[in-house]
Amino acid sequence: MTALVTTLVAVLAAWALAFAGAPLLVWTAAIGVLLLALKGLGLIGTTAFAIAGTVFVALALLLNLRPLRRAVLTAPIFGVFKKVLPEMSSTEREALEAGDTWWEAEMFRGRPDWNKLIDFKYTALTPEEQSFLDNECEELCKLCDDWKIEFEQKDLPPEAWAYIREKKFLAMLIKKEYGGLGFSANAQSAVVTKLATKSITMAVTVMVPNSLGPGELLMHYGTDQQKKQWLPGLVDGSELPCFGLTGPEVGSDATAMPDLGVVGYGEHEGKKVLGITLNFSKRYITLAPVATVVGLAFKLRDPDGLLGDKSKSEYGITCALVPAKHPGVQIGRRHYPGAAFMNGTIHGKDVFIPVDWIIGGPAMAGKGWRMLVECLSAGRGISLPALGTAAGQTAYRMTGAYGRFRRQFKVSIGKFEGVQEATGRIGGYAYTLEAMRVMTASAVDHCAPSVVTAIAKYHMTELMRKIVTDGMDVMAGKAIQQGPRNFMATAYKATPVAITVEGANILTRNLMIFGQGAIRCHEYVFPEMEAARENDLPAFDKLLFGHIGFSVNRAVRAFTLGLTGARLARSPVDGEMAPYFRDMERFSAALAFCSDLTMGVLGGKLKFLERLSARLGDVLSQLYIASCVAKYYLEGPKTEAELAHARWALDHCLYEIANAFDGFIRNFPVAWARGVMRLVVFPLGNRFKPVSDRVNARVADLILEPNDVRERLSWLVFVNGGEHDPVGRMEHAWKVSQDCEEAYLKFFKLANKGELAGDTVADRLRDAVTRGLMTREEADQADTYDKVRYEVISTDDFSKEYIAGNYDAERAEVIEMAAVRARVA
Ligand SMILES: Cc1cc2nc3c(=O)[nH]c(=O)nc-3n(C[C@H](O)[C@H](O)[C@H](O)COP(=O)(O)OP(=O)(O)OC[C@H]3O[C@@H](n4cnc5c(N)ncnc54)[C@H](O)[C@@H]3O)c2cc1C
Repeated sequence: MTALVTTLVAVLAAWALAFAGAPLLVWTAAIGVLLLALKGLGLIGTTAFAIAGTVFVALALLLNLRPLRRAVLTAPIFGVFKKVLPEMSSTEREALEAGDTWWEAEMFRGRPDWNKLIDFKYTALTPEEQSFLDNECEELCKLCDDWKIEFEQKDLPPEAWAYIREKKFLAMLIKKEYGGLGFSANAQSAVVTKLATKSITMAVTVMVPNSLGPGELLMHYGTDQQKKQWLPGLVDGSELPCFGLTGPEVGSDATAMPDLGVVGYGEHEGKKVLGITLNFSKRYITLAPVATVVGLAFKLRDPDGLLGDKSKSEYGITCALVPAKHPGVQIGRRHYPGAAFMNGTIHGKDVFIPVDWIIGGPAMAGKGWRMLVECLSAGRGISLPALGTAAGQTAYRMTGAYGRFRRQFKVSIGKFEGVQEATGRIGGYAYTLEAMRVMTASAVDHCAPSVVTAIAKYHMTELMRKIVTDGMDVMAGKAIQQGPRNFMATAYKATPVAITVEGANILTRNLMIFGQGAIRCHEYVFPEMEAARENDLPAFDKLLFGHIGFSVNRAVRAFTLGLTGARLARSPVDGEMAPYFRDMERFSAALAFCSDLTMGVLGGKLKFLERLSARLGDVLSQLYIASCVAKYYLEGPKTEAELAHARWALDHCLYEIANAFDGFIRNFPVAWARGVMRLVVFPLGNRFKPVSDRVNARVADLILEPNDVRERLSWLVFVNGGEHDPVGRMEHAWKVSQDCEEAYLKFFKLANKGELAGDTVADRLRDAVTRGLMTREEADQADTYDKVRYEVISTDDFSKEYIAGNYDAERAEVIEMAAVRARVA
């Protein structure tokens, strides 16, 4: 009996120590106490005690005396580690080291400090930023007719270009001290979101100079002379920038570019100067067709050591600013990427530039890749996520309203369960998008996070794709027929642009999120690699034993939390969000454990097993997304409607996490590790289910109603375009419906029962009033509703000449058709 109790106590104590992450010394003391207890209780004899004690003392000394441990245990492991450590090129290293880690590191490490999330402050918009959204953005939206831009003009109208320049839309990122607007990342993201709800072309035109490009590169790395020369023009819009990295041979693998610059003497402005002769060919470059200054990435070679270092001839990627009119530079023809923003090619043949044109001067020769990756780390979290959010906000507001107006089988389509499956998803995703937008943009204001911005870029553009597809399905023919009444088709066509640029999504998911996350966020891996690179055995020894303790702790935590349904996990709050925080903590521990085991078992091979690393990246991403959603809910009004949306989003995240783990474990190539991981991650099986019909239906019902959450989730949609704007028309109808829908439904019921005489709505309404079934006022309201309803469901039709490109021919016909329609009505 005593033996059984002692064994139980010992196991429980070991479990508790592992769960708490006790240090090695505490473990040593605990085992010492256990041995003494066993002897004291008479459970082991003197000889056994002596043998066990000797082994214990030997091991305790070996593990706790660092010089001994280093010599006997760590040194051989260090040797093997250095051998199996995957080769890392300098460009890979620069990409890995660029930017900061942030909240995702907490989720990756398996024991998040929730207070950091709770205490984190979103960036508030300043009065100036708010006013810019309310005034300049509104004005610019009014200047743009999306249909004309996309179909007729294939460009922004001249007055919009002028307004963009005049109001410094292209200089939001440039600091005030240089004359720019100096907006926060959150404000920039809000501006781009708002513009994108009106015109993708306008949003892309504005966002590109505010993302990676000459402005940002100059501010961070430019010499004083370069700042003085270029920033005023970039601020007042007299200079239009573009940035050329991609070429025909290199897209994702931009570091393999063949574009070359060779250092040598040449003539510039009549003088002999040290310079670079450039040959390059770039494609897909946004704003290139209208650019006045080109930020150019190329590989620099200095065969004669003219830059001062005779031992170095290959400098690697370098960035320079070159005027578009500089001799030899040829701005090529336009591409047409499905939206009308300017995009095209640039070529250069024997273009000679002074070395001073390298951004940051000759001292920055060869530092181009790091510069680009660092700037991209931040910009990636702003622009493309803003396009995703814009699609989410528009789809939420418009699909909800359309689902109410459009009736089939005498029922608003938004009430059909099948449609609700899609509209519920739209609601959940729109909530997720806004939660991610505000959190990620605020993070960029706080530091330069590289992993969360990659997560935001990938997932927010993928959500854009899903939400736009759902919106198209719900609105069906109305969304397919293109024309001035359509508010979805441009986003549908432009989604692949968002998916492809700034790191194509397949690459971002498979290579970057986990690859960068694992190495940057892990408490031990990167320092261990650094210790190996610097051949620092003492540092490696300390890290290695910390790492072992870390892995054991995370395994025990994940297993225990899995076994107890996460009841032992911590939540920073009570109430509805608490179970979600606990589940997140459980999966965070599981991610830390699985990542460690995977890196330990697969080592450098993991780099090539993209399907596996992508799934671990999905877990990390969904943990970040769930954090964004929970935070957004806690920062908001916490109404029942908000909770319904937050529940949808969080249930979805947890399901995706469990699915990703399941796929990962199922496909892991080493059988014993599969077994261990399944036991630790799902000790009682996978109990996570897709969003329930009940939760989905609640969101789908809410999306049809006027309420606060609708306003919060579509606050950036440009709604003031008037009745001739596709969104403005729906807004007008929505407002009318608040006063008139009841009367219309009364009429609709009477008409459907066949109780009203007449063939037209007007006849039947007259009959209803004559027979006292409706008052005059009700009939007027029903009539008004019917007219706006019909406007909302109407689509465009064109003359053959117009479709063929004769835009003027159409005006007369459109006016005539409108008159015919009026006569028929
Ligand atoms: C509209 C538009 C605007 C653009 N604007 C600019 C600009 O202003 N400046 C500029 O320099 N560039 C610009 N680009 C280029 C853009 O960044 C590239 O298109 C992008 O890097 C992908 O290159 P690619 O299209 O050649 O695809 P590829 O590199 O050929 O990739 C094809 C597919 O393979 C995948 N893939 C590649 N490598 C891997 C890997 N290791 N693991 C997994 N998957 C992988 C990619 O994800 C992609 O799905 C623009 C592109 C477009 C379409």
